[in-house]
Amino acid sequence: MTYQQLINYGKKLAKSHNVEVEGIKILVLEMSGLNGAEFLLNIHSEVDRALEEIIKKGIEEYVSGKPVQHIVGYTYFYGYKMVVNGDVLIPRPETEELIGYVLAYYDEMFDGKKVDVVDVGTGSGNIAVALACEESNMKVWASDISFEALETAKVNAENNQANVTFYQGNMLDPFIEKGLKFDILVSNPPYIPDDEYVEPLVLDNEPNIALFGGNKGMKFYQEIFENAKKVLKDKAIMAFEHSHKTRLEMLELANTYFPEANSFVIKDLNGKDRFLIVLIGEEND
Ligand code: GLN
Repeated sequence: MTYQQLINYGKKLAKSHNVEVEGIKILVLEMSGLNGAEFLLNIHSEVDRALEEIIKKGIEEYVSGKPVQHIVGYTYFYGYKMVVNGDVLIPRPETEELIGYVLAYYDEMFDGKKVDVVDVGTGSGNIAVALACEESNMKVWASDISFEALETAKVNAENNQANVTFYQGNMLDPFIEKGLKFDILVSNPPYIPDDEYVEPLVLDNEPNIALFGGNKGMKFYQEIFENAKKVLKDKAIMAFEHSHKTRLEMLELANTYFPEANSFVIKDLNGKDRFLIVLIGEEND
């Protein structure tokens, strides 16, 4: 078969299994080992028999409900290749927007200065790694309660040559214990309400502890805000991703714990309330 024939074969199979047809092209491209341009040039070339069998096996896994990212073993986040597996949440495109906001508010508040940054509940390490790679003035720490997630995060830091210090522990606990203080706190904690429907592709493949955030999905933000003062410097930025349903709850938390701060919610590219930014000790001139 040619790559094109493999794609057609996969799409037909995906349709009959009622799974997203679009995933097939990405799967075949990634499994080909070619880059985008080479793939297009060779789309009508005959595929090596052994590789054809491997790709067909991948297609079968895909139509039976395995995420493309788990079949190929990685995804891309903010342009960086990240290893993913059943121990970590697969980084989502919204979270790339969060990186952009952290970098922009860093420029606004700290403009070229060295800063200490913490990523709380790092999962695959995507946020910590992307920030460390993008801004050399950021010294980055990250925590996760899951030992297995941290193993993956460390691989991602190493593969991308990011200098990140990882600690195992719940939310801010390791940093409070060590008495560390930060200029920037970022977090995309689990935020799906415990009783919300989650599609099987996600529920069956991604760790439940990375998905669910208690009643209303607010549990982890509550925990972070309760302790935030213990780990923040006087002038600081906090940036969170959150559920599109909890704009008011997020603002209320910010206004309760940091009434003097400049706190606001930003919508994601789909027009949904998604990011809370808290600027603390900002100079008003
Ligand atoms: N911080 C990671 C991410 O943004 C993991 C998030 C999570 O497990 N909820 O993808």
